[in-house]
Amino acid sequence: MSLVVQKYGGSSLSSPQRIKEVTKRIIRAKKRWEKLVVVVSAMGKTTDKLLKLALQLNPNPPERELDMLLSSGEVISSALLSISLCSLGEKSIAFTGSQVGIITDTLHTKAHIQRIEVKRVSEELDRGKIVVMAGFQGVTPEDAITTLGRGGSDITAVAVAAALKADLCEIYTDVKGVYTADPSIIPEARKLKHISYEEMLELAGSGAKVIHSRAVEIASKYRIPLYICSSFSEEEGTRIG
Ligand code: ADP
Ligand code: ASP
Ligand code: MG
Repeated sequence: MSLVVQKYGGSSLSSPQRIKEVTKRIIRAKKRWEKLVVVVSAMGKTTDKLLKLALQLNPNPPERELDMLLSSGEVISSALLSISLCSLGEKSIAFTGSQVGIITDTLHTKAHIQRIEVKRVSEELDRGKIVVMAGFQGVTPEDAITTLGRGGSDITAVAVAAALKADLCEIYTDVKGVYTADPSIIPEARKLKHISYEEMLELAGSGAKVIHSRAVEIASKYRIPLYICSSFSEEEGTRIG
């Protein structure tokens, strides 16, 4: 049974047009893979805007409410993407982190995933549905919504891939792969075809936000192959692992 987890970052979902493009890409992938889980970030700069709103009302917002607020960005994009998939006749279902059962500790705004209950997602995959999941969020055993820290949708994607024993986790972003340096700052940076988990951890540790370092750690621990590429092009990306 082949299973892939695809993650689309905020830049890939910044407008209805972009969501339509991603929808088409997912439908193409569904022809290659028997089971498909899609993890999404909030649209464009939504998380920054939500944070700014909160700070206008309280310079020191309570973290429980801040997490409720910030998690809503990914809830919106997951629902919209599933709505878009259904409009093209695909069977899909969207879930929040709490609906999936992404159980975290209580460290609001930087929570750690403790376990993932895969039952509900597996049932929907068995029914042939594309499962769309809101990234970046979880829920405490006491039912408080948490977030995983900035860039945390990468962590959701790889943790879910590990829990479902996926064959591959694909990270779709706005660059064509992992470069020797940030290509938006160093134009002569070279794209890498393949890189080890250890080398990627080093790059991520020194600030390459193309993938969250915690996501690379989980991928390395559970031996999940990663593939980072652009959702704006068909060019080959970078394999990790
Ligand atoms: P997403 O919205 O898809 O999560 P991010 O903005 O978090 O995307 O990460 C992608 C960005 O990471 C790229 O636009 C790029 O500027 C930056 N980046 C930093 N270092 C690297 C690197 N070594 N290789 C590729 N991209 C990098
Ligand atoms: N939306 C969150 C952020 O901007 C999580 C993510 O994009 O991965 O940090
Ligand atoms: Mg990111």
